[in-house]
Amino acid sequence: MNAPVSVEILRQHLIDPEICIRCNTCEETCPVDAITHDGVNYVVKADVCNACMACVPPCPTGAIDNWRNVLKAEAYSIDEQFGWDELPTQNPTVGAPAAYATPAASTASAGVDALQAAATQIDGDAAPGSGSDLVRGATVPPWSAARPYVQLYTHKAPTTATVVGNYRLTDASTESDIHHIVLDFGTMPFPVLEGQSIGILPPGKSADGRTHHARQYSVASPRDGERPGYNNVSLTVKRVTRDYSGNATDGVCSNYLCDLKKGDVVSVIGPFGNTFLMPNHPNSHLLMICTGTGSAPMRAMTEYRRRRRLKGATGKLMLFFGARTQQELPYFGPLMNLPKDFIDTNLAFSRTPGQPKRYVQDAMRERAVDVAQLLKDGNTHIYVCGLKGMEDGVLQVLGEIAQAHGMAWDALWERLKREGRLHLETY
Ligand code: FAD
Repeated sequence: MNAPVSVEILRQHLIDPEICIRCNTCEETCPVDAITHDGVNYVVKADVCNACMACVPPCPTGAIDNWRNVLKAEAYSIDEQFGWDELPTQNPTVGAPAAYATPAASTASAGVDALQAAATQIDGDAAPGSGSDLVRGATVPPWSAARPYVQLYTHKAPTTATVVGNYRLTDASTESDIHHIVLDFGTMPFPVLEGQSIGILPPGKSADGRTHHARQYSVASPRDGERPGYNNVSLTVKRVTRDYSGNATDGVCSNYLCDLKKGDVVSVIGPFGNTFLMPNHPNSHLLMICTGTGSAPMRAMTEYRRRRRLKGATGKLMLFFGARTQQELPYFGPLMNLPKDFIDTNLAFSRTPGQPKRYVQDAMRERAVDVAQLLKDGNTHIYVCGLKGMEDGVLQVLGEIAQAHGMAWDALWERLKREGRLHLETY
């Protein structure tokens, strides 16, 4: 009689390339650096992932939540995953995957029964934690937020929109070229809420012959349209002409969008996002902190509140908005025209000639007493959007202000996350 052959089954964590919108959230969230990407796909290193699930709640599309039972020795390598256009099907002889993964591989004897037993053992292990302590912002929406629609249109079944407006927001003298683009969906339903984003599928193919993946853009208009009563949305798009290291490059989608003409038709997927949403109760306060195109969701929320200004409501709007110069600040003119008793606007410019550098954190410190008052109020909802680099600084200054005004920041931070009152979206 042959001795039983020992096999190890791995419940391998994979990312669906057809749904993933390459927003980088998973890679940033992963506490063990198991996720990486090339110019095309986001992938998971099988030998590093411990299935802690920290990356799952923040993923805006659910692409991250995919699992295949594989023989450990045959786990998909990252090079294989880089080449995928779609996920492989589950090999039925290795057992169907369960909803939640376990940290590692499991051992069993060979034979289908044994493999099934191994799969059962995997399923029976304690479900791993949500990893929410590793996530810096809320993974739940405000209690009073409207219910969002998500993923009505997908890579496989996108919809189209017609460009009805495209104009530059930043001064022509500046290098920063940011556009306000209005897309009309005609009679096609495309319901969005403030804080959600949409995906644009740029036409053409990359150097390796694959179709470009979608890029995500925050909606800059309120739920009832850029023009009330129209089925349209606006976007705030910065033309990418340099990569993060400052080298010259032509960003595929941002250049495509900024060059669009009235009447052009674009392919759209989404909407995306079910947590970065605004509260709907009238006395809720919005503390908004943004830089550059991070102003898009703030514009949407502010405009929604302006259109629905309720008599007697005490909800406050406080905005901290940073840019290099006033000429590079999108929507400067319209923002300055908003009544002072409607929104408390604080601008910070980091490159005004002859002036010291000033960042949003500096402006927040100057207004610490008022920020602290908002932090103490259970109706306050905080939104941070813009450059990736701003997150640390903003969280730090919120902590400093809280501590200086008698609030234990760690406990407050946890509460803000738990109650869907601290939302971060940086890219
Ligand atoms: P790519 O062709 O993808 O990249 C070209 C090169 O530039 C690459 O080396 C890349 O690493 C680098 N690069 C990419 N983006 C930047 C950048 N911002 N700065 C410097 N280098 C960069 N963008 C907006 O303009 N407005 C928005 O409202 C907006 N909302 C977003 C919301 C979410 C949730 C996310 C995840 C991203 C958002 N973005 C937004 C960024 C947007 O999705 C694209 O990443 C961006 O437009 C660049 O795409 P691209 O195709 O032009 O550049």
